[in-house]
Amino acid sequence: MNPQAAHAGAILTIDLDAIRSNYRLLRQQAGKASVAAAVKANAYGLGADQVGPALAAEGCRHFFVAHLDEGIALRPHLPATAEIFVLHGAPPGTERELIAHGLTPVLNSLQQIEAWHALSQTLERPLPAIFQVDTGMSRMGLPAAEAEAWLANPAFMKSIPPLFLMSHLACAEHQGHPMNASQLARFQSWRQRLPHIPASLANSSGIFLGPDFQFDLVRPGAALYGIAPVAGAANPLRPVVALHGRIIQCRTIQRGDHVGYGISYSATEERRIATVGVGYADGWLRSMSNRGVAFIDGRPTPMVGTVSMDSITLDVTGIATERLQAGATVELIGPHRPLDDVARLAGSIGYEILTDLGRRYHREYIGG
Ligand SMILES: *Cc1c(COP(=O)(O)O)cnc(C)c1O
Repeated sequence: MNPQAAHAGAILTIDLDAIRSNYRLLRQQAGKASVAAAVKANAYGLGADQVGPALAAEGCRHFFVAHLDEGIALRPHLPATAEIFVLHGAPPGTERELIAHGLTPVLNSLQQIEAWHALSQTLERPLPAIFQVDTGMSRMGLPAAEAEAWLANPAFMKSIPPLFLMSHLACAEHQGHPMNASQLARFQSWRQRLPHIPASLANSSGIFLGPDFQFDLVRPGAALYGIAPVAGAANPLRPVVALHGRIIQCRTIQRGDHVGYGISYSATEERRIATVGVGYADGWLRSMSNRGVAFIDGRPTPMVGTVSMDSITLDVTGIATERLQAGATVELIGPHRPLDDVARLAGSIGYEILTDLGRRYHREYIGG
């Protein structure tokens, strides 16, 4: 569903050329490593059916989704030569469906390895997979004891040829964080026991930790979509999304008048208030109440009052009336208000803002 531009409360612009340009920059940054793309959660909310082919056209051949169904949905949009890896592995009993849809699991537990091994026995052929080891995040991947059990059984090596040995970094956006070196050391020690298997450790931020972290395959998501990879440093990536909300109506309020649920804003003098058709149901987080700023022709207009389900209210005092007509647009994410700034104001991160972007927006894709 893509609501018509004239019907929608906001226009979301997604720049596929910027995603391609970010992919090229990451490829430069990643040296000898191949560059995969994390396109889970519908390519971070931006549309895996659009983003996937744009990246494939740029030469990307490794794609990561989280869920089986994300892989099934993505398969028809990618060339047959592109590999789709399912980060969560095959849910118990679904192993055959991965095969049927040309998907490859990331195996995270001994249970998943055993199920994949059993299918390989039944089909009487090897079934390659990625193996993920836990190097300190305690979230996904083989705990040390399960990794030992995997390595101790030579039958697994035959039935499941490892495509990559993989792990994931917990603190990569903080370049000086001791966890990075600690996880790298643990990863290296697993790798020494499997020296001939290609390896993959880095997400977007991990790429910027330098060549030691890059191995054979890097797996950026956020950076492709314009999110800054290094905390506290300038963002070298091109912005990908812009969001323009539409004005529904305007009014003048007087000293002592209130705005919105809970009357969390009260005017101390005459103000002009514009109501815009974007709310928390569209992923404009309620924590932005009385915090955000929208821009009209580059001029800041503060958000006043509480974010409602379907609308927000702006103090547009001093903006020309012609510019405040119903249907006119205000910049919520764009050149004056980058995604990462919006996230900071919301007390969130760019990842969450992107993956929450509303389904009621009209979506416009540029390039591709
Ligand atoms: C989401 C994810 C990525 C991509 O991470 P970014 O920080 O968005 O670059 C890479 N690897 C794994 C295992 C992931 O879950």
